[in-house]
Amino acid sequence: MQIISQPRTDALMPTADVRHDLFEQAISIIEGFYSDVDSLPASPQVSADEIRQYLSQFTFETSLDAKQVLDGVSRRLRDWNLHVPHPRYYGLFNPAPGFYSVLADLLVAAFNPQLGAWHHNPFGVEIERHVVRYFAQQFGIGTDAFGNFTSGGSEANYTATLVALTRKFPTFAKSGVRSLDGQPVFYCSTEFHHSFEKIAHQCGLGRDAVRLVPVTDEFVMDIAQAATMIEEDRRNGLLPFMINATAGTTNSGLLEPLESIAHLAQEHNLHLHVDAAWGGPAILSDKHKSKLAGIEHADSITFDPHKLLSVPMAAGIVLVREHHWLHQAFALKTDYVPESQTAGLDNYQLSFQFSRRFIGLKLFIQLAVLGKQDYEKVINHQFEMAHLLAKKLEANDYRVLNGASMGVVCFAPQETHPEGQDDFQWLADGVCQSGEAWISTTKLGGHPVLRACITNHLTQESDLDRLVDVLNRVRDAK
Ligand SMILES: *Cc1c(COP(=O)(O)O)cnc(C)c1O
Repeated sequence: MQIISQPRTDALMPTADVRHDLFEQAISIIEGFYSDVDSLPASPQVSADEIRQYLSQFTFETSLDAKQVLDGVSRRLRDWNLHVPHPRYYGLFNPAPGFYSVLADLLVAAFNPQLGAWHHNPFGVEIERHVVRYFAQQFGIGTDAFGNFTSGGSEANYTATLVALTRKFPTFAKSGVRSLDGQPVFYCSTEFHHSFEKIAHQCGLGRDAVRLVPVTDEFVMDIAQAATMIEEDRRNGLLPFMINATAGTTNSGLLEPLESIAHLAQEHNLHLHVDAAWGGPAILSDKHKSKLAGIEHADSITFDPHKLLSVPMAAGIVLVREHHWLHQAFALKTDYVPESQTAGLDNYQLSFQFSRRFIGLKLFIQLAVLGKQDYEKVINHQFEMAHLLAKKLEANDYRVLNGASMGVVCFAPQETHPEGQDDFQWLADGVCQSGEAWISTTKLGGHPVLRACITNHLTQESDLDRLVDVLNRVRDAK
């Protein structure tokens, strides 16, 4: 008997013809965005009232036409969003996603593979492990290294901190912090990423467990002060267990001295974590990877493909030096998930997540298509653009305060006092309100600066000139 499969359709699944039309509509929306993003304002001027007014028509009581819903929503995605993929979004590490990674994410949404357990998606799990091992090898953290894709750097840092606690305190996993004879503490410089504050809270350590080490005049961890703090804390009965080195600080893209921090970690028997959420992908660049020298000593590493590797959010990676550390921290048994017998442990026993999206495909496909060589070009280009921006700023009477070697330029108008009261918010606001570009302010070593980061592989010299022009206009009008 011949079995003819009937097309299945229902409220969630329209017919093939309708799908085809909607796919085409979606493609034309995206292509339209790709071709115009350059001419759209980089940041929107919209009020919450305006948005809520539009949304109030969606009462969900009746069904609507899909074409019209898509059309209306995508128009507002254009008009009411700050455009992260804009070539003059000099922003907060979020990239313009590469095309191949966008395609991959579409496949993932449709297939919806479950990567929590090996047997549910052997191919997906093995793809992610292949990518994870590739990066572990690039970083040189040993043949037993392993890791996971995460929702981002925060989850990766959280994973690493739990691993460090579980490794260093054998009773922690079962009996918690109260089983220890002191307060566990860990060290970050004052230029750390603030995810660690939440992490200390989440791990039950309390936020005071983050011991903030002052920075040098170069805005990186002061090693001598770190050593003094660790010794003093030990004498006072605290329990130092981890030190975090940031490779590419969020404020300024600076690299903390990995070799010296590794040495300190070894001397004091601390877990060495390298938070390379931004800077880590520089390992793919023969030109820039020497900046990460020392990262091979790390016990764990965080890096974010959804930053410098130009894939859509959300995608982070955590690596650990020894495979079994993840198992120690996350293993458990359930009655309802069948165990995979064949291929080692399941992701749900090696990570924080249960249901797990196939995060790694967008990186795998993009890396496969580009190869390391073309990825290197993309990374080098962004760093070169930052370098060039720094030069142009200096030629226009701005002081560049961080060397701009890793894509981030921290600067201030020349005539202002380096330690003055001006926070330069007026200058950043003026730039954003012009629609020409988006930049922000931050503090570097406690002092206000302007911050412009190259996060877009398509940003060109003409985009830098336009930023400098609008900065000058706003500055000179004051
Ligand atoms: C961005 C960043 C994080 C946090 O990563 P998310 O992906 O935003 O959660 C952590 N550390 C550093 C250094 C970062 O730049």
